[in-house]
Amino acid sequence: MAEFDLVVLGGGPGGYVAAIRAAQLGMSVACIDENSQLGGTCLRVGCIPSKALLESSERFAETGTALREHGVLVGDVRLDLGAMQHRKQRIVKTLSMGIDGLFKQHGIVRYRGRGRLAGRNQVSVESDGGQESVAGKHVLIATGSRPAPLRGIEFQGDRIGTSTEALSYKEVPRHLVVIGAGYIGLELGSVWRRLGAQVTVLEALDRILPGMDTELASAAGKMLEKQGMKFRLGVRVSAADITDSGCTVRCEGADPIECDRVLVAVGRIANTDNIGLESAGIERDGRGEITVSHNFETSAAGVYAIGDCIRGPKLAHKASHEGIACVEVIAGRRGHVNYDTIPGVCYTHPEVASVGKTEDQLKQEQREYRKGVFPFAASGRARALGATEGQVKVLADAKTDRILGVHILGPRAGDLIAEAGAAMEFGASAEDLAAVCHAHPTLAESLGEAALAVDQRSIHMVAKRR
Ligand code: NAD
Repeated sequence: MAEFDLVVLGGGPGGYVAAIRAAQLGMSVACIDENSQLGGTCLRVGCIPSKALLESSERFAETGTALREHGVLVGDVRLDLGAMQHRKQRIVKTLSMGIDGLFKQHGIVRYRGRGRLAGRNQVSVESDGGQESVAGKHVLIATGSRPAPLRGIEFQGDRIGTSTEALSYKEVPRHLVVIGAGYIGLELGSVWRRLGAQVTVLEALDRILPGMDTELASAAGKMLEKQGMKFRLGVRVSAADITDSGCTVRCEGADPIECDRVLVAVGRIANTDNIGLESAGIERDGRGEITVSHNFETSAAGVYAIGDCIRGPKLAHKASHEGIACVEVIAGRRGHVNYDTIPGVCYTHPEVASVGKTEDQLKQEQREYRKGVFPFAASGRARALGATEGQVKVLADAKTDRILGVHILGPRAGDLIAEAGAAMEFGASAEDLAAVCHAHPTLAESLGEAALAVDQRSIHMVAKRR
């Protein structure tokens, strides 16, 4: 039986990143994944393909409308969905082959097949070619998550399906009903709306993007409505069925909705079934997520777990960071994840990005804070881009001025939030952020202006008297 210092179960952004870091640290490493393409949900049917389609569909929508304002006149704008999907697949393939290349360079042995723990130090791999076993001094579980089902709804191909199907529709739906106004619902709803579908989003709560800053989420909702997306909030879906003419979605206390595609996007659940956890006595919590210590060790010594299959937000970058921290600890070094500075980004147009505490959380904690806001409408670069919607909001401790949270709705918010994350990682105050010399004219200047606004010192906006 082949033996390794570390056997990683799962080749997604948690598992493959951990495997590479472990190899850098001198460990012999094996990585098991049943899929032919490495990269996990994120790369194959998640973050990357959705961003490819978001970019393409935004170009399509923009060419049809916004270019005129720039003095660029184009003729008939037509859609070649096949080419758009092909581009998406090419991006996925290239990136996945990139991981194969990295594995080779690091001497990481890749097993293709379904892995299952067989005790604490052994994983069996089942594939078309048969079954083999791999031994590991340490084992890392990074099996990720899958779309959560919804009671009363049976997944039926791409008619009533998940994000996986909604990334690969062969034609633009006439009417797409999205259940859940979270990241996936809004991103994929945006893609198909821009390409011409009628899109109705049904959300159980009375708001969209739960967890994000309420004020910005509500402003984002209005912008998406202007783009033609319809929202029905406070609606609980009870059933969805395929009919002769399409699909019918039934909601509690409301009229049924007719459509031709349904996307269920109500969260994700950990992949922890049928991976042999019981063979090593590994415990799970009530949500089916693997219980781990602060060092990511499970209830079985030497077996670790990271990413979507443990507690915390189901985000690729959180999984990668945990993977790195975990193998650093295994190698006897210090490994740490700062859960207060994990950013969240929803790639709608404009983007919504957030790091740290929201105003709602600070109010709940009865923490005194000061708030600085700067609208992109007052940014020269945003004007030149023709992207003036949205704002930057900096929240700082009322006494110490330490930055507690930053929330951005606007152009490239997902990239801009990185500076806020870096500032918070270094324990910066709003004054520190305001002192950073931002290049002019850039969108990033708005961060500096919002930081100045905490102290009512914004230059390009007159502060409201408190
Ligand atoms: P989510 O948790 O972001 O949102 C799910 C939404 O569905 C919530 O608003 C919830 O209130 C609603 N909902 C739940 N039950 C409902 C019901 N019966 N009827 C109507 N609405 C209902 O989940 P998601 O959008 O499915 O995304 C899954 C995971 O993937 C998330 O944890 C997210 O972090 C991750 N993800 C992240 C990104 C990104 O970082 N840009 C993109 C896609 C997915």
